[in-house]
Amino acid sequence: MPLGWLGPGRLVEDVVVVLHGGRVAFAGTAREYVVARAAADPDPRTGRAALEPDEVLRVDGFVMPGVADRHVHIGLSDAAAVLAGGVTSVRDLGWPADAIFPLAAASEGPSFAGALVRATGPILTCHGGYPTAAAWAPPGTGLVVRGPEEAAAAARWVLARSSLGVVKMAMNGEAGPVLSDEELVAICDATHAAGAIVTAHVQGRGEAARAFGAGVDEFAHAPWSERLPDDLVGAMARRMRMVSTLDIHSRGRDTAELRTALDNLARFAAAGGPVVYGTDLGNGPLPTGIHVGEAWHLLRAGLPHERILQAMTFRPLAPGEPGDVVVLEGSPLEDLNALSRPAAVFRGGRRTR
Ligand SMILES: [Zn+2]
Repeated sequence: MPLGWLGPGRLVEDVVVVLHGGRVAFAGTAREYVVARAAADPDPRTGRAALEPDEVLRVDGFVMPGVADRHVHIGLSDAAAVLAGGVTSVRDLGWPADAIFPLAAASEGPSFAGALVRATGPILTCHGGYPTAAAWAPPGTGLVVRGPEEAAAAARWVLARSSLGVVKMAMNGEAGPVLSDEELVAICDATHAAGAIVTAHVQGRGEAARAFGAGVDEFAHAPWSERLPDDLVGAMARRMRMVSTLDIHSRGRDTAELRTALDNLARFAAAGGPVVYGTDLGNGPLPTGIHVGEAWHLLRAGLPHERILQAMTFRPLAPGEPGDVVVLEGSPLEDLNALSRPAAVFRGGRRTR
């Protein structure tokens, strides 16, 4: 009997999901489906019975919303392979504007063969700051600002071009100079005034505390360069969000960076801080699609199985939500390795695998 995890607190047996017009028309038990179908009015335009599926796919597995990877550099990967691997949407956290914004716009279209791409565009930084000299970053990946006025203007420039509502900035004291406190505050204030949020690459001693003080909303990586004090972690958990990207420090090995990042993320999560799944796809050899190793690290950090699924998805399977669905052969609530075997993947109501 197929099992469905429709979102937090919604695990149902004998699940039925109906996709129509690119969206979820129904998600619930087979018994609820019979009731909903009888009660619904026919489609006024076509005269067809409501909630009638276009095609019926019978599965004896586990149905869940499409996975979202909240930290990728899709220009270094393959959006089609990512989708085939069960990741229906990605958030690109750093790429030149003239390449990534057109790709993001194209990915919204029904004929795009790949995961939905939403993008922050270039990374705000200072002269000589990360990632202007990083080997992975093409010219234009860093957007250099000089002074608070330019910093605020750059945040507004990015937000005017992105549908995402997120500004990325770099605070990497290990790779070169970093933005001043005045510039950090200017970026946060301009972004918040536009109703958007700031995500930051934070690396080097003291940078996490500066990010918190300036008003940054999200860590683009679980901080790995120092153990953060408990009181700071507790305060961050009340106001900030953390993207995991744990496996970039590990790739199957135990490292000092992994242990520090796990320790910070574990205490952040235990204090109630929201954690979201992100892999930093494009950074070295990571699997395209769902990265089971990242899920195992989240388990290692103390997240229960259901909270891991919550971290890996961002919309429930409910009427009106995008028709992004992953079908697995087994339940990841019992064995996380089930995530490595998507039997079927739907994006926008269309089966892509
Ligand atoms: Zn990255």
